[in-house]
Amino acid sequence: MDRRSRAAVTGSYDYIIVGSGIAGLYAAHLAREHGSVLVLTKGSIDDCNTRWAQGGIAAPIGPGDSPESHLLDTIEAGAGLVDEDAARILTSEAGARIRDLVRLGVPFDTLHGEIALAREGAHSVPRVLHAGGDSTGAHIELTLSSIARQEGITVLEHTIATEIVGGRRKKEVGRRVEGIRALNTQTGETTEYSSRFLALATGGAGQMYRYSTNPDVATGDGIALAYRAGAEVTDMEFVQFHPTALRMPGVQPFLISEAIRGEGGILRDVNGVRFMPDIDERAELAPRDVVARAIRERMHATASDHVLLDVTHLDAGVVMTRFPQIYRFCLDHSLDITREPIPVSPAAHYTMGGIRTNPWGETTLRGLYACGECACTGVHGANRLASNSLLETVVFARRVIDRTRSSPDSAAPDSPEPRELSEPHPTETPALTREAVQSLMWNEVGIVRHGESLRHAVAALSAWQAALPSVSDRPSQELADLLTCSRLVAEAALHREESRGAHFRTDFPEPREEWRRHVVFRKAAPATR
Ligand SMILES: Cc1cc2nc3c(=O)[nH]c(=O)nc-3n(C[C@H](O)[C@H](O)[C@H](O)COP(=O)(O)OP(=O)(O)OC[C@H]3O[C@@H](n4cnc5c(N)ncnc54)[C@H](O)[C@@H]3O)c2cc1C
Repeated sequence: MDRRSRAAVTGSYDYIIVGSGIAGLYAAHLAREHGSVLVLTKGSIDDCNTRWAQGGIAAPIGPGDSPESHLLDTIEAGAGLVDEDAARILTSEAGARIRDLVRLGVPFDTLHGEIALAREGAHSVPRVLHAGGDSTGAHIELTLSSIARQEGITVLEHTIATEIVGGRRKKEVGRRVEGIRALNTQTGETTEYSSRFLALATGGAGQMYRYSTNPDVATGDGIALAYRAGAEVTDMEFVQFHPTALRMPGVQPFLISEAIRGEGGILRDVNGVRFMPDIDERAELAPRDVVARAIRERMHATASDHVLLDVTHLDAGVVMTRFPQIYRFCLDHSLDITREPIPVSPAAHYTMGGIRTNPWGETTLRGLYACGECACTGVHGANRLASNSLLETVVFARRVIDRTRSSPDSAAPDSPEPRELSEPHPTETPALTREAVQSLMWNEVGIVRHGESLRHAVAALSAWQAALPSVSDRPSQELADLLTCSRLVAEAALHREESRGAHFRTDFPEPREEWRRHVVFRKAAPATR
């Protein structure tokens, strides 16, 4: 008997929210004013990307700053693909959402009685709020999860969403999404929950890559589920690689925040030579894609697997108080960063693409919404401005809940010319494992791409798709979702014959005006898998 037929329908809610990071928990807090709320999350409540966010959350609240200036920086970073209307909403609603977070109890750091603001790469002024120095995400997650507890919101932990119920089916275009099917990973029981409004807040897909700053949960489940149900997915070729993750044998690629470079950290190659000023006038504070490619090149040139990020010239007390999490993590691995440079290399960090939404967080399926990293609102374009992602989660989560009140039956319009993933094609490939997908993506669909290697990756991923075993537990569900996301990234990257923002191809190294458009995928006749 398959899981579908065993699913019991237990429970009907006004709002079902999948995911318990900042987007999901903030949406749940707002939704409970308007109806019954159920939150599903596949691990424990705080197992998410949010908890690891370091640098902070951007908002144009400082003296001399304005939503317009923040908008211009966001547009500049996005390399010609930012949706200006969505970005204007982001920067103009930022102040109000920060006030909400303060009201909820997020303890942002202060200086002389005012909220302290840091400067990060490609921001023209200091505008990044932080908490606990570099523990911003942990403080936000802790605050929102305790609010959820105080408010008595039902959060089902260890419950992984496996399939959207309803939505677009062959000959049933326009059918509303009716709920979600989910697997309790502790009991093995599958349950179907019905909803008036289903909001996906499942985060990004950084686990597609061998080196990633994202925790294990970031397998792109919501994006894959939405694609399978017939929603549109867009901009998947734009994956942000963070230039500086700790590179030590046997240690996870722990993020070394951009804010460290904002405070004066200097990048040198393993021979001690500073290289960024020769590459970009903004030197260490150039956009992430520029710094990531420069580091990659320097690693090749020096035949090393890392470069060095040097903060030894900065005041040790400032380093320890401003970056306590990084300082402690490195010290736990026998590296005192106030005395020795930090070995770093790039790692996959942020999924710019995702489930296509309009500025209300509506997807192209009625009753289905998306917010947070799994959504593509268009604010990041081809490259995210640092610290805009936490801001995006709260601005658009709020708009999702507002929209369910003002226009409960609407949806985003379809795109005119969506693409479909190619037909899975069985060929000889190595065994399908998470590690095999991650290595292929890192080597062939990574920081620097080329048509030939992309074609090879597309073929290998398609062959794995053809051999995909049936889903029976969390690991197999995550592998299936990771594979779908990887195929979306590889096929979009092959299709986009230019370089723009985070997408760089050596065979098309320049941006091309005819590509100032989005690659959108939609499954024509969605099936369950
Ligand atoms: C190391 C690191 C540092 C960062 N630093 C910053 C920063 O300084 N500033 C900034 O703006 N951004 C930063 N980011 C990015 C930012 O943290 C994320 O974009 C943001 O937290 C995403 O929030 P979210 O709620 O959308 O997703 P997440 O916080 O990732 O939450 C997703 C949730 O969905 C759940 N989930 C996923 N799939 C399923 C499923 N199938 N069923 C049930 N539940 C599911 C997960 O378990 C999790 O609870 C950083 C990211 C990382 C990894």
